[in-house]
Amino acid sequence: MWFANMRRKLLLGNWKMNKLSSEAKEFAIASRPLVQKAKENNIDLGVTPTYLSLAAVKENASKDMIVGAQNVHFNDHGAFTGEVSIPMLKEFGIDWCLIGHSERRTYDNETNEKCNAKIKVLIENNMVPVYCVGETLAQFEAGQTKAVVEEQVRVGLKDLTSLQVKELVVAYEPVWSIGTGKNASTEIAEDVCKFIRDVLRDMFGSVADEIRVLYGGSVKPENIKAYLSCPDVDGALVGGASLKIDSYEALLNNIL
Ligand code: PEP
Repeated sequence: MWFANMRRKLLLGNWKMNKLSSEAKEFAIASRPLVQKAKENNIDLGVTPTYLSLAAVKENASKDMIVGAQNVHFNDHGAFTGEVSIPMLKEFGIDWCLIGHSERRTYDNETNEKCNAKIKVLIENNMVPVYCVGETLAQFEAGQTKAVVEEQVRVGLKDLTSLQVKELVVAYEPVWSIGTGKNASTEIAEDVCKFIRDVLRDMFGSVADEIRVLYGGSVKPENIKAYLSCPDVDGALVGGASLKIDSYEALLNNIL
């Protein structure tokens, strides 16, 4: 398991439902020098491939590459057709997992309560959840961003202890900015990421200063530096711009 230092910068690519396993392998091999470069600059680098490409990436990338799943079930086995469990991920050495990505909330009825169940078992199994939160466009326009995000954080992380949340990562991803090219301004990103940290402090105390909070939503090589210059933004969760190795490299180079 990869233990993060105190809020090392984190660049995590979310590949969603993209790449054949052979393409994932090619990327993994090409990423080796980038992971080394990132490490030398105190930055953590990772990707979340589809389940079927996890093994190819794990086997072919640098051992320091974070490789995470995009979802997991909270039961470890049983009659849950189409699902994948924590032991199945661990068998392949996978110890990170996205939880509550907005596409899963939208298309797969991923509720805050379900996220909570998943986050709890991931942490009990020494895995790192990347808990995604964020408001829809309608909620943003109605001025409900902080109320929505607070509810997502409080319910999603319910009944956890401060010791348990130390390695957790939270990603603030306004739904209206994901895959749309409409990024949140750096002011919004900082304001909401700081707000998330304040909620975490209220729930868990000073450990909130060790929890990494990422921004995600149309992050590109041209804008990543501005986000990572915000004091409460500890990294980026990147979809589209993480798919091609050149663009992934440019994301890294622009935050060195
Ligand atoms: C994401 O998938 O989490 C994401 C932020 O996508 P994009 O960077 O393409 O907006």
